[in-house]
Amino acid sequence: MSDKDFIIIDELENEKKDEYDVDVADEKKGHSVVTQEKADKDDDGYEKYCLICHRPESVAGKMIDLPNNITVCSDCMQKSFDAMTNGSIDYTKLFNTPGIQFMNMSDLENMTPKSQKIKKKKEKPKEFRKLDINNIPAPHKIKAQLDEYVVGQEYAKKAMSVAVYNHYKRVATDTMDDIEIEKSNMLMIGPTGSGKTYLVKTLAKLLDVPLAITDATSLTEAGYIGDDIESVVSKLLAAADNDVEKAEQGIIFIDEIDKIAKKKNSSQRDVSGESVQQGLLKLLEGSEVEVPVGANSKNAMVPLTTVNTKNILFICGGAFPDLEEIIKERLSHKTSMGFNAELKDKYEHDKEILSKVTVEDLRTFGMIPEFIGRLPIIFTLKGLDKDMLVKILKEPRNAILKQYKKLLALDEVNLEFDDGSLEAIAEKAMKKDTGARALRAIIEEFMLDIMYEIPKDDNIGQVTITRAYIEGTGGPIIQLRGQQAIPRLS
Ligand code: ADP
Repeated sequence: MSDKDFIIIDELENEKKDEYDVDVADEKKGHSVVTQEKADKDDDGYEKYCLICHRPESVAGKMIDLPNNITVCSDCMQKSFDAMTNGSIDYTKLFNTPGIQFMNMSDLENMTPKSQKIKKKKEKPKEFRKLDINNIPAPHKIKAQLDEYVVGQEYAKKAMSVAVYNHYKRVATDTMDDIEIEKSNMLMIGPTGSGKTYLVKTLAKLLDVPLAITDATSLTEAGYIGDDIESVVSKLLAAADNDVEKAEQGIIFIDEIDKIAKKKNSSQRDVSGESVQQGLLKLLEGSEVEVPVGANSKNAMVPLTTVNTKNILFICGGAFPDLEEIIKERLSHKTSMGFNAELKDKYEHDKEILSKVTVEDLRTFGMIPEFIGRLPIIFTLKGLDKDMLVKILKEPRNAILKQYKKLLALDEVNLEFDDGSLEAIAEKAMKKDTGARALRAIIEEFMLDIMYEIPKDDNIGQVTITRAYIEGTGGPIIQLRGQQAIPRLS
């Protein structure tokens, strides 16, 4: 037998076969013996794989069919030819090289399966039930979907659902004769950690549209150090995988918009404030912007493309500190005749004061009228109270507690949090004053020990987290499989 009858197999390549689910049992039983023509006609969930490198057709490309139902990918075929025609290899030396085996082609007949096919990899199920923006569901349906992820903020969710519904209806119909529907750009006002970014992210995922998130503080007028204003559109284009059409239906979220308020009593040129608001005007309204493809800044090396922002939904968000004072001032001013002190006291304790915001208040805050005019939908989010924080811990579809429970369930351990523990976590978070953002950090801190210790002991069947454990005065309750609960002191 000549050297040419050998095919080199690299053992490392061989390992790749384990990545795919080779249905050998079925093949032995002859269940999946599929003739070539039939396989081409109907996709039975199986695909061919290379006998040498074991990569499936979806990875290695079209297979070459050899007699005896053998299929080989073109790379391996080429390698075999190269090995045969390249006289410089001394095959006798290769016999002792670790990791390389030799195979006699004539042996293949006995070991080849009747059908050389493996099961195709299944696509992972999608986490979100996506909405079709060309056939946008009614606002109550959008809100119902948001409800699954975002706790409370009922008014914000309602306002957003209606705005999004109208926006995409406008996009789908383009213009309606001479009545042009106004763009539904939004302004969200709410304290930090109240879910502004989270709402926008959830919405973009539900709608399956690209989303770009920027901080207004990073934006400057073109020519100054920082990102120029049009960079927000390039970010969106990148989020849309450089697909201009997709980007033109996307969402741009500009956070910390309150930081570009006009500075009061400033005689100097205001680079980061008013001029950025001015610069954003034409984007918000809709204009053609030249943006670099696949890069953040324009330079000679990058190709440019034009994106029209007419159908891009802009959502601005900010905490607007001191806005409450401005509202209180206005309200008490209006009714200042007579019982002034009494009214002032009433507004002082009004928790809903932020929701009474008007365009006038925002102007006093330092937003220019043209800018506010291009954000017709203005709504506020509430600061999160203890009850809402407890709900955020346990209710959303991907709630943080559900995630930990699932992790421990994989070790067959049941993780419980008693009511006291949830309240204790919420109380700790309230003290940090960063809304729901503090929750994860607090939970991660005390769950570290649990996640470390519990898998050590196979007998543990249930762990209950208590208020005492959160507050550092006691331990969790550990329950062994088939036994009574025993409190464990830490
Ligand atoms: P901000 O209002 O400062 O933009 P975020 O949206 O970034 O706050 O909130 C921080 C995190 O807190 C989010 O990632 C989310 O997990 C959680 N969160 C905040 N508010 C809510 C809410 N209402 N419902 C569910 N989770 C929330």
